[in-house]
Amino acid sequence: MFLVGLTGGIGSGKSTVADLFAARGVPVVDTDVIAHQITAPEGVAMPQIRQKFGPEFVAPDGSMDRARMRALVFSDESARKRLEAITHPLIRSETERASRAARGPYVIVVVPLLVESSTWKTRVDRVLAVDCSVETQIARVMRRNGFTREQVLAIIARQAAREARLAAADDVVVNDGASLESLASDVDTLHTQYVALAKAQETNPPG
Ligand code: ADP
Repeated sequence: MFLVGLTGGIGSGKSTVADLFAARGVPVVDTDVIAHQITAPEGVAMPQIRQKFGPEFVAPDGSMDRARMRALVFSDESARKRLEAITHPLIRSETERASRAARGPYVIVVVPLLVESSTWKTRVDRVLAVDCSVETQIARVMRRNGFTREQVLAIIARQAAREARLAAADDVVVNDGASLESLASDVDTLHTQYVALAKAQETNPPG
C-alpha cells in the first residue's frame, strides 16, 4: 500500500487537511488516535505499562492514568524514554496493521512528529507537510485549546523547526489564511498525483 505521511506543527491544520482527504474516500490512519487507543482500557500497551511503571499508573478502568504519567514524564526524561520505548514500537506496528487493512487507492498516515523520527521517514512513500507561520499556529491553538501564548510556544519549541519540516517534505500545503475552498483545491491536485503514484508503485513494486 502506498503511504503518504501527513505532518505539520501543532495547529498547522493537519486534521483539517486529513479530513479533506477522507472526504475523497482516502483512508486516514492517525498515529495520535492510535497512541490513545493503545493506552485505553485493554490497550495493547497496558500490560507493559503496568509492569514497568507499576499499578499506580493504571486508572481504575484499566487505561493509563494520563495525568499521573504526564506529570512524571514532564519532570523525568528517563521515564519519558521508558514510556516511549513501550509505546513507539506499538504505535508503529498498530499503524502498519491499520494501513494494511485499509481499503483505498492509498493511505494518509498522520504523524505529527514525522520529521523528528528517522523511522517514520523511511516507512512512508511520500511526505506531505502542512505549513503556516508560527504566529498562525499560536493564534489557532490559543483559540482551539484555550492555551496561553507561552504554552503554545513551549510545545512548538519541542517540535521540528518549520524549515526542517519543509526540507523533509515532498509536497507542501500552505495553510496560512487559506480558505477551505483553496485547501480543498490543493488536496484535489495532490489526490490526483497520489492516485497516480500509488498505481505506478502497484505496477512496479519496490524491492
Ligand atoms: P492540527 O491538526 O495540525 O493541530 P487543526 O487541523 O486541528 O491542526 O487546525 C487547528 C485549528 O485551526 C482548528 O481549530 C481548525 O479548525 C483551524 N483551522 C485550520 N486551518 C484553518 C483555515 N485554513 N482557516 C480557518 N481555520 C483553520
